[in-house]
Formats: sequence, structure tokens, C-alpha cells
Amino acid sequence: MGYSDHRRFPDFTYISRSGAYDTNIDCVIISHFHLDHCGALPHFTEICGYSGPIYMTYPTKAICPILLEDMRKVAVERKGETNFFTSDDIRNCMKKVIPIDLHQTVKVDEELEIKAYYAGHVLGAAMFQVKVGNKSVVYTGDYNMTPDRHLGAAWIDRCRPDLLITETTYATTVRGSKRARERDFLKKVHDCVRDGGKVLIPVFALGRAQELCILLEAYWERMDDLRGKVPVYFSAGLTERAIAYYKLFINWTNEKIRTTFVDRNMFDFKYIDTFQTHFVDEPGPMVVFASPGMLHAGTSLQVFKKWCHDPKNMVILPGYCVAGTVGAKVLAGEKQIQIDAHTRVNVNLQVKNLSFSAHADAKGIMQLIKMCEPKNVMLVHGEKSKMKVLKRRLESEMGVRTFDPANGEAIWCGGGQDMEKTTDGLVSGQVLRTSWNTVRESLLRWNESGEPHGPSKASREAIGNSPFVGTVLQMPAQPLHILPPPKGLSDASHRLSYTLKKYVNPFGDMLGDDNSEDIFRSASQNRILSQLSATLKEYLPGAQVRYLARPSKPTGAFESDVILVHMDDDGSILDRHVSLRMAAEPQSAILVGWCDGADDVAGRVVAVLNCVVK
Ligand SMILES: [Zn+2]
Repeated sequence: MGYSDHRRFPDFTYISRSGAYDTNIDCVIISHFHLDHCGALPHFTEICGYSGPIYMTYPTKAICPILLEDMRKVAVERKGETNFFTSDDIRNCMKKVIPIDLHQTVKVDEELEIKAYYAGHVLGAAMFQVKVGNKSVVYTGDYNMTPDRHLGAAWIDRCRPDLLITETTYATTVRGSKRARERDFLKKVHDCVRDGGKVLIPVFALGRAQELCILLEAYWERMDDLRGKVPVYFSAGLTERAIAYYKLFINWTNEKIRTTFVDRNMFDFKYIDTFQTHFVDEPGPMVVFASPGMLHAGTSLQVFKKWCHDPKNMVILPGYCVAGTVGAKVLAGEKQIQIDAHTRVNVNLQVKNLSFSAHADAKGIMQLIKMCEPKNVMLVHGEKSKMKVLKRRLESEMGVRTFDPANGEAIWCGGGQDMEKTTDGLVSGQVLRTSWNTVRESLLRWNESGEPHGPSKASREAIGNSPFVGTVLQMPAQPLHILPPPKGLSDASHRLSYTLKKYVNPFGDMLGDDNSEDIFRSASQNRILSQLSATLKEYLPGAQVRYLARPSKPTGAFESDVILVHMDDDGSILDRHVSLRMAAEPQSAILVGWCDGADDVAGRVVAVLNCVVK
């Protein structure tokens, strides 16, 4: 991106010099709708002639054509580029796309299988696992390991791919707390309007816009000098379209938005109104969200033209703008900008940068590696020098073989170390291979047909479709057991609840170094929980992990501390938590309990347990 000659699209001769794309590749996978990931797709299918299958998630398929059309308009209608794909090309290209769901395994052909995992980042973003026989590769696309106000965090099974291809936008950055960045943003806005200035926030219709609105709405509610006094506007048309997408793809947002959508629309704002063109000339402070995000056309550019002369005003731009756009020139600090053939403006307003980012930082990249335990890692989508630093770090700290090839450079990564030996084992015991999917699949099988380890036919009939309490049990080296609910618990007042038991042997051989055995020999079971609580905090940024000592009502003679994990940032939905406690008899085990509705959090907690409990 950023070029207007042949370099504006990728060099597809790397795939085939003769244009035999269909023979050389089995399918195209698009990770998300950002243009640096899908911008050349119509070119590849309609102009280069690739005609094989194309996969992307449902939201990506819905939103992708809007951005491609935007891109085409800027290139052809504003910059006068030729040889560009047409609106018809975009339409024809999108018709060939096969949409897929999260965690759905799709067989591309006899040998090739793909599966999508949640990546956070933007609505619909996915990481993909690609499998042929017993070899597999995970491609992350762009991902975010920290949930924001409208999306959840990326996560993946411990699938041990032969190769993990990860983005490294922030290869060496460890970002400060999200709260600090939010405070910083709110302070900039507040300072500007307090001095009588107007704030323009150019946004793309989806993504950051919703996050910032949720943030401003809550701030306005708290601030007496803002509430009802300083208007906040969102450019017309955008809101409706965006909310339609969020409603349609509500499963892709975070847990809190999903839950509250039932009784209250999170995007139904009290202090944010629809922007009308004549508001731009009204006196006094105001805040305006307007698209597009890079100030290259439309409402945001119109507002910018009117406000840019006044040093009291402020524009808050996204961290990155495509070269050639007004946004990029403003970011570069240009003081006189040619907006179109007839308009040249003096830029005196304050220019601020939006430091929110939807990419994983160095810590997040390492968390993902710990989660899926790849044998080899390949770094892409980052700066060369920073990748070198991260490569050294991954190799020395995690012992995983890492590559940072140049464009077109082939790598050979056969073999590779099994990472199991090198990850930090915090809690030891027999190796348990439980995965959340196994639990879920077993429960489904139980509900549908019953299976050898399930409850008797009679008890299944007694339960019927009413909510029930059941227990999922895994003994070391044995298949999963699902125990029937106790009698009398099948009435509708009980919620479906699950308990997953993970056996640990705190006195076993675990960490490999000589001291570890003694450390764990003296460690009490509650000590394991306290270590586990620290680990959960590290692995689940954004989650509330509370470690409570000695609950008042212990379940048995053995009193265990308890860890409560939930994903809501204000703790308002307390019954959607996952609890972890220790069971002493007959064998040490960690009991993971959760109720229907907390499946998401439970899935994450179990994934973390799978990483650290060996
Ligand atoms: Zn992206």
C-alpha cells in the first residue's frame, strides 16, 4: 500500500512466474478486512485470473467490499490511477468468497483442512490453522491479546503447529496500561473543549469509533462541566450502518456487549447525537466523530477544512494514514495542505495521535506462542530491526526456533523442538490432554445420543431438556467421563453448571531442574492456587482475576482458597465467572467450575490451564 505504480499490489510472481496460480495454490485465506490484508484480492481474482477457493469469516465478507470500494474510489476518482479494478470486479470477486465460522473445520480438498480462531483486532478478524496430514501451520493475521471495550482478546487451542506465522507490528514494544491510554485520550479531548475548542476525530465506521464512543459516553456521564453542555456528534449514516453490523455479528463482540444487548443497546448513546452538516459552523466547543479515518474525502475532510485554521481546535488522527491522504500530510506536520484543485488550507489546529492499537505487543506475542506451543515461529508484518530483537528473545527465553525471512525468501523448518520441554511449568502433575473442545463435544454427544461414559438412558430421560447440573471428569490417561446430575436437581430453577477436574501432582517431577522438586514438595495446595492466580493474570490481560483466601463456606473438610475469573471490566456481571479451587481427596486436583453463559471465560481459563499444568 502507499504506492501508485505496479508496487501497489503484491508481487504475485512469487507464487507463479507463468501465472499458473490455480495449480500452485489450493486456496486463498483472508484474515480480516483491513486493506493491507485484502486490498489486492479483486486484482488477484479478476485481473491475474486466480479462480480457486477464497475463505474469510462472515463479518469480513460483509465489510471487505465496502473498504475495497473506498480504496478504488480514492485511487481512481481522486488520484486518477488507471489499470485499477472496477466496482464490478469487486462484486464478482466477492461472489467467489466462501464464508466460514469460528472453530469450524473446513475441508478445502482431500488433504487440506482449515480452521478459524478469534483474533480480536477488528470485527471478524481471525487466525487460521491450516492442516495437511499431521503437519500444521497457524497464520495469525493481525491480532490483539488485550480485550477492548467492544472486542474480546485473541485465543487459540494448544494445537502445537509445526509453524506459527505471527504478525510483529509491536515486536519490541510493551505497552503501558490501557487505562492510562484511555485517560490520556479523555484528557486531550477535555482540555481542548474546556478552552472553547472543537475536536475532530476522523474514524472508520467500524472498530475504534465504537470503542471511543463507549468511552466518551461514560466520561460525559461523569463530568458535570461536559454533560449537557458540550455536544458530541457522530456523522450520519455511519451509526446506523455500524450498529447494523454489530447486531448482525454480535457473537464477535465481547461478552459484556453481548450480554447487555439483550436489555440495552450498548451503542444507543445518551450524549452522542447524529451530526448534521450545518453544525460545523456553530460556535462553541463540540466533539465530532466523522468518517473516513484518513481525511481523504467525505464528512471528516469537510469538517477539517472548516476547523483547521484555528489553533484552539484539535484533530485526533489514527496512528497510521495511507501516503497521499490529507491525514498522512497532517501527521507529517505539513502546515499548508492542498486539499483539492481549488482548496489550499493553513493547518494551525493541534494535531494529536490516537495511541490506541489493536495489535498484540511483545508480551502478547509471547502469550500467543505459549498458548499454542509451535515448533517453529516465523515473524512477519513488522520492522526488520525489531523482528531481529524479538527473534533473539524468543530463541533465548522460550527456546523456539524463529525465522524472520525477507519477502520471497524460502525457509525450511522441518523438525523443530517440541516446545513442551521449554515452557514454564508452574504447576506439575500428570500430563492432561483435556481441551475445551473435547468437553463441549462430549456434552453435545451426551445431549444428543448418549455414550458409554454418559449417564444412563433413564436419567437422561428424566433430565429431558430442562437445565441440569453435570460434572465433566477427566482422570489421567482415561477418556472423559460425564457424570449425571444428582437426583432432584432437574427442575428448571437450576442453571446448567460445569465442573472440570484437572488432576495435579504437586509432589511429582516437573520443572526439569533439580530444585523444583523440593520447591513443590513444600508447596501447599493453596500455594499452587496463588501461583495459578498470578499466571491467569498474566495470560488473560483484561480479565478480573481475584484470589480469595479461605471462603466462608468450604465444600468439604478441606478448605481451599478460590480464584474467581471474569472478563467484565467493572465486575457488574458477577455470576458469569469461572471459579478455581483445589480438591484434596482422593487425589490433588484443580476444580474449574462455571455456569452456563460463562463458556467463553471458561474456555480461556482451560486453555491457560492446559498451558501450565503439565
Ligand atoms: Zn489489521
